[in-house]
Amino acid sequence: MERFHPWVFSGAIDRIDGAVEEGDLVSVQKSDGKIIGYGHCAIGSIAVRIFSFGETAPGNDFWEHRIRQAYLLRSKMGLTDDPGTNVYRLVHGEGDGMPGLIADYYNGTVVLQFHSVGMWLAREAIVEALKKVLGGKLVAVYDKSAKTLPFKANIDAKDGYLYGNSLTGEVMEYGNRFKVDWLEGQKTGFFIDQRENRRLLAGFSKGRTVLNMFCYTGGFSFAAMQGGAELVHSVDSSARAIALTNENVELNFPGDSRHEAFVADAFEFMQDIKDKYDVIVLDPPAFAKHRNVLAQALQGYKRLNAKAIQQIRPGGILFTFSCSQVVTRNNFREAVFSAAAIAGREVRILHQLSQPVDHPVNIYHPEGEYLKGLVLYIE
Ligand code: SAH
Repeated sequence: MERFHPWVFSGAIDRIDGAVEEGDLVSVQKSDGKIIGYGHCAIGSIAVRIFSFGETAPGNDFWEHRIRQAYLLRSKMGLTDDPGTNVYRLVHGEGDGMPGLIADYYNGTVVLQFHSVGMWLAREAIVEALKKVLGGKLVAVYDKSAKTLPFKANIDAKDGYLYGNSLTGEVMEYGNRFKVDWLEGQKTGFFIDQRENRRLLAGFSKGRTVLNMFCYTGGFSFAAMQGGAELVHSVDSSARAIALTNENVELNFPGDSRHEAFVADAFEFMQDIKDKYDVIVLDPPAFAKHRNVLAQALQGYKRLNAKAIQQIRPGGILFTFSCSQVVTRNNFREAVFSAAAIAGREVRILHQLSQPVDHPVNIYHPEGEYLKGLVLYIE
């Protein structure tokens, strides 16, 4: 039975015909010569990333077809023509059959992040495909891959526009406006993956005091304000993130004194917050980027969550997340379980959260499921 996993590890390869280089398009064959599929090859433990299964070689319109399929899914989910939301992920790597490619749509500008040389070499075809699929909606395409391409490949990629040139980066998510800085910001500029979880927070916020820890540009804060929070504190260790959060407050809730933002380290800020907050959001950066630091990362999640569970007001709600790919849903839940035990409080799980529909997971590639969250009720 074929498993359709898109990654072929170097140890699984018996023989290589001809000279292949990083980024080349290759076919993967069984020992009897039958073609399994086509993919891009790379130097490293993942030797080939398959993007097309079957005997038929991908034709000229392959990328257009794939991107159209990705667009169709977003369109069916109501994301492409929503007056309140004009930001979504258009291509989510393996989840859309395009390993090594991320494409985020920001109100007409598509920001691309290439993670494999093969995809990067196909960038012109990908831009042409985007033009065809998005038509008049497409204003510009920005390539932000200098830091995401494998550095060993030594291709010296530079960030820059591949099409058009858009200066303003303002988007809307469920009616909240955000300035997005794809030139300097984190990831492609915005954490699109928390859209539905922010919306859920809005429903828990009425009349409550809310701490948004690791706020970045303030996403969860505005959802809480929209939901009628009494007070919202946004915290991030990056001064630049806090400046953007404050700018975004002015865009959405000008002069609203319910909100205050602080540049601070999470652990320091949480030293003494006893009984201050009814709702706490913890959305830290990935604590484990590699499997060898998994144990350490789980300790980090445990300590962080213990601080929140110990100090949240009785009847409090904790939204807690992990976006580390190597941390499984169970790993994370166990870390939070230990945190609850340390705090010694009664804790119930209300929701188990994940990534939204525009970050689909290919069922043959479970590694694509990276965002995990829990909503807890703390007595
Ligand atoms: N919740 C955000 C995304 C969070 S990304 C959203 O919805 O958009 C993680 C953030 O944590 C980054 O902005 C980073 O600057 C911040 N961060 C990293 N280490 C930190 C620390 N020790 N204390 C506080 N913030 C930190």
